[in-house]
Amino acid sequence: MTITAQRQADARPHVLIAGGGIGGLTAALALLRMGIDVDVYEQAAELREVGAGVQLSANGTRALYALGVGESLKALSCEAMGKEIRLWSTGQTWKLFDLGAASNERYGFPYFTVYRPDLLEVLASAVRREKPDALHLATKCTGFTQADDRVTLHFDRGAATGDALIGADGVHSRIREQLFGADQPEFTGLMAWRGTLPMNRLPAHMARLVGTNWIGPGGHVVHYPLHRGELMNFVGVVERADWRIESWSARGTTAELTRDYLGWHDDVHAMIRSIPAPFKWALMSRLPLERWTVGCVTLLGDACHPTLPFLAQGAVMAIEDGYVVARALKEYGADVRLALERYESARRDRTARMVRGSADNTQRFHNRRLAEQAEAERYIAQEWAEERVSDRYEWLFRYDVTTVAI
Ligand SMILES: Cc1cc2nc3c(=O)[nH]c(=O)nc-3n(C[C@H](O)[C@H](O)[C@H](O)COP(=O)(O)OP(=O)(O)OC[C@H]3O[C@@H](n4cnc5c(N)ncnc54)[C@H](O)[C@@H]3O)c2cc1C
Repeated sequence: MTITAQRQADARPHVLIAGGGIGGLTAALALLRMGIDVDVYEQAAELREVGAGVQLSANGTRALYALGVGESLKALSCEAMGKEIRLWSTGQTWKLFDLGAASNERYGFPYFTVYRPDLLEVLASAVRREKPDALHLATKCTGFTQADDRVTLHFDRGAATGDALIGADGVHSRIREQLFGADQPEFTGLMAWRGTLPMNRLPAHMARLVGTNWIGPGGHVVHYPLHRGELMNFVGVVERADWRIESWSARGTTAELTRDYLGWHDDVHAMIRSIPAPFKWALMSRLPLERWTVGCVTLLGDACHPTLPFLAQGAVMAIEDGYVVARALKEYGADVRLALERYESARRDRTARMVRGSADNTQRFHNRRLAEQAEAERYIAQEWAEERVSDRYEWLFRYDVTTVAI
């Protein structure tokens, strides 16, 4: 190594990441790809999520292709050809937007619908290829201490010290709590049903490469294919005040889910009947944080901008954060505090706008005007007119993590 290269390498920080979810693993991969050493501490003993899907729009897949994992993810996922709106009662269908070739032509990258375990596996394998011992599983982070430009992350057993800490530990972030105190979530009065089901259990007309949003008064359903089309992902949101637990693993029953969608179209019930294990998730809303960073510690993903899932951008934003924080640490590495501040200011307004946009979609999806057919048609023509759809999504999909100013 030349003396200059050695000086540059010495100036690069060693980064600790709390949480090996979608955002933490993306950040780890981006850092390693940019020549920065990283260790990830994840509480779970295995990187295996409760079966569920995630939609990745072009702004997310652009980052994943830049990290060299786009093609391996594509081989496991589905490339959605488009998105459509369907009316809860009659099943009448409207086009929301074209994807497939249109996503590639317009934004340069595809729109994938992905089984979360596939995404975690692709990211974790790529991280291990760069640094075989980077991931420390079954390691619960309990807090941190900062002194003299170094940060120590404490675990249930032991501790590790580095130059920067990224809290990527999700919506109930321990790192956020230590930085800024307990958060104040507000229950929305909404609950999400989640499940995956085998595609071959559904009528043939439903096995299509599209994402579908069923909308109705008091509820909506989003479904899309996963895992090379072998699975269908189901997310059903209903207005229900009696479930307040925000958890990836709380179970409900098929009978209860069926009751929540009484009167909805047969295609919705065909999915409900085939979900082996429906899960329940109470939807909480939180105001965007004003700050994410203190000294050498920052946050990413749901730890700093948890969102309602109504723009399908929570995971995509965690991916964007992961790429941008790595770029900032590469660019300003010798000055970690500056790097983390630049990262935060590059990301804060965009993610806050996404959180607000998601909340605005609640009323749009559940509107009382959807109860009756003729009024529903007028409402859909107005709310899903091409121009309004493009106002809601273009700014999201066009963002480029590789060139945005930091
Ligand atoms: C019903 C539903 C549907 C959604 N659909 C979409 C979608 O289509 N598209 C989209 O982009 N987003 C979607 N989202 C949002 C998305 O799931 C989240 O925004 C995303 O998972 C955030 O990623 P993250 O890495 O920040 O956090 P997480 O995925 O929550 O990962 C956090 C990780 O940290 C670990 N951890 C937590 N605490 C500790 C600790 N103390 N020590 C060590 N490890 C710890 C956890 O085990 C976990 O592995 C949806 C969300 C919901 C609820």
